[in-house]
Amino acid sequence: MADSSNTAGGPQPKDWIAAIHAYVPGKSKGADGQKLIKLSANENPLGTSATALAARAQAVEPSLYPDPDSTALREAIAALHGLDPARIVCGTGSGELLTLSASAFAGPGDEVIFVRYGFSLYEIAARRCGATPVVAPDADYGTDVDALLALVTERTRVVFIANPNNPTGSFLTRRELARLHAGLPGNVLLVLDQAYAEYVDPMDDDGSLELARSSANVLVTRTFSKAYGLAGERVGWGTGAPRLIDMLNRIRGPFNVNNGAQAVTLAALGDQDFVSMSRRHNAMERARFEELLAPLANHGVRVLPSEANFVLVLFDGALSAERAYNGLAERGYIVRWLPGQGLANGLRITIGKREDMDAIAAALRAMVEDAQ
Ligand SMILES: *Cc1c(COP(=O)(O)O)cnc(C)c1O
Repeated sequence: MADSSNTAGGPQPKDWIAAIHAYVPGKSKGADGQKLIKLSANENPLGTSATALAARAQAVEPSLYPDPDSTALREAIAALHGLDPARIVCGTGSGELLTLSASAFAGPGDEVIFVRYGFSLYEIAARRCGATPVVAPDADYGTDVDALLALVTERTRVVFIANPNNPTGSFLTRRELARLHAGLPGNVLLVLDQAYAEYVDPMDDDGSLELARSSANVLVTRTFSKAYGLAGERVGWGTGAPRLIDMLNRIRGPFNVNNGAQAVTLAALGDQDFVSMSRRHNAMERARFEELLAPLANHGVRVLPSEANFVLVLFDGALSAERAYNGLAERGYIVRWLPGQGLANGLRITIGKREDMDAIAAALRAMVEDAQ
């Protein structure tokens, strides 16, 4: 009989796959299984547009495959943003497109650059295709364009930038982003992950879509998971030069956006009032929350400036991030503590409903006092 404990003869994963630490999603339950108010995954506290929910209730034919090219959806995205639908690809969340963009342009021996305190998926995307992740140092938690450009070598194939960045909330201006792009060789793919673009004040637009339109080496990705309130539907999109889109189309899942998701997302695109309302709500509550926490600065609690729907709060005084995390969980709030990303001193807190942000701010104030 075969010895089942002897795994030496079993399938051997690639070294670079075995080196991956699986993505850690935001928690939604406490240690005892108790349901908590979830402010750990940057989901929309206003839920989903009623128009989208109505479309969701309509039956789709489950026995049929979806449109493999998400045609109607791509056309609606193109119309909204003034883009060419032929230069748009939809994905199972923007996560699929981020991963595939590394796989299409990098492999063993190549380098993929992203910032320290960046989105954790970039490292997985780099390792998955056997490329070497290269981490650029930050400038006070934000993206440092010069430090990043200094790391470019002839092995560099892909640079990932989230703007606004997750988990820091930091933002590169149009000018800084253009400077980064201008400093990169033309054979390096610049992936601009705009998962939080809808939360940015339109006056501060970073010019990503223009770069994607006018350059051969820029891919912009966006998602319906955040401001559109459709994280569960798993839909994102990307735009860039025809050759970039062509490569992603070759390797994406052939029916990567399911029937229901295409219909719901199409309806959600038609309800821009919901998106504007989400942006206004977020801007107002984020500013309010920052103000409520400002007095704690004397106690080593600092809120980093954010253009997104979350803030990173640093705890460098008597109250540690870990204790604050546990204290909030005891009060029914789950936020994101990120020791695995080198942020043992930070909590990323999604901007939720006003009463929840008030309660969190009050709890943090009480905890800081207790810790003195
Ligand atoms: C949430 C998020 C995404 C979106 O991922 P989906 O797969 O579209 O849900 C992408 N990038 C960043 C930086 C994010 O925070």
